[in-house]
Amino acid sequence: MTPGAGDTYAYVGFSLLVIILGFIVNYMLFKNYIEDRIKLVYRNILEDKLDKDTDDRLKEMNLGGDVIQEVNREVQEWAEDKNKEIQGLKEMENYRKEFIGNVSHELKTPIFNIQGYVMTLLEGALEDEKINRKFLERTLKSVDRMITLIEDLDLITRLESNQLVLNKEKFNIVDLVNDIASALDMKASNAGVKIEVKDAEKPILVNADYSRIRQVIVNLVVNSIKYCNQNGNATTEIRFYHMDKKLLVEVADNGIGISKDHLPRLFERFYRTDKSRSRDQGGSGLGLAIVKHIVEAHGEKINVRSTEGVGSTFSFTLSKS
Ligand code: ADP
Repeated sequence: MTPGAGDTYAYVGFSLLVIILGFIVNYMLFKNYIEDRIKLVYRNILEDKLDKDTDDRLKEMNLGGDVIQEVNREVQEWAEDKNKEIQGLKEMENYRKEFIGNVSHELKTPIFNIQGYVMTLLEGALEDEKINRKFLERTLKSVDRMITLIEDLDLITRLESNQLVLNKEKFNIVDLVNDIASALDMKASNAGVKIEVKDAEKPILVNADYSRIRQVIVNLVVNSIKYCNQNGNATTEIRFYHMDKKLLVEVADNGIGISKDHLPRLFERFYRTDKSRSRDQGGSGLGLAIVKHIVEAHGEKINVRSTEGVGSTFSFTLSKS
């Protein structure tokens, strides 16, 4: 019996069905194989963010599109992220090394000084009425210098690790500046410096952390005294400028000034333009770094203008209340 047209159709139909089923089975196997391989790649690059992430990504992924290109792109992104992370860790490592180097360097001078004074006292100076007191006073000066350094280090560490919480409040900055001017009056006149607060009649209300802003102004005024000129006309002026919602506070001196080569690095930790004068005056080299951190923690800006031999003006903004 020769097969009829119906049999031929059935045969062709069956063959097609087998081919389609075969295709589907192969497709599913291939898809599973690719998914397993891709999961493996994601497992390696996503590490702990794993399963849910991997599954979500696979669901979103169009296996009809260029899957390999997509995975390649993600792997490249991952590699870039890792590179940045490694770069950041290297910077931290350098920062840590430099920081420890600076701290031990700063501590060396007062510690060796103390050792020298104590040894001299023990070797007989203690009984010598003329010098024993002088040596003890020098020892105390070195101890004070170490305390300043430790306090500044503690503060800068807290500022740099964002551990310092600002207690913002509304206060009259003119009162604060007048208060600082009288507290530092003795120190200033001993150095031959006259402190003047300009436009100090009307109150100006600002919204900031009172004690931290006090520290900013104290550091700037103390610097203007330390680096004053010796011409007998040394002055420090504190001025206020209104700029819409902001207030600009300026601390200006006619002291030794700073050459423009130093200005870009002036706010860095331990950066000094006049090393011997700074150490002589008990400076930790951290004062301006602290000032900048505090001002920036308030979301405000600090700036310096200076001319060598003419004087320096430090200015920072505050939000008016
Ligand atoms: P220091 O403890 O050395 O004073 P600072 O961070 O307060 O540390 O200041 C950094 C350096 O900037 C100082 O060593 C000094 O060289 C320079 N400097 C700061 N303020 C003034 C100023 N008003 N006039 C001249 N130089 C200044």
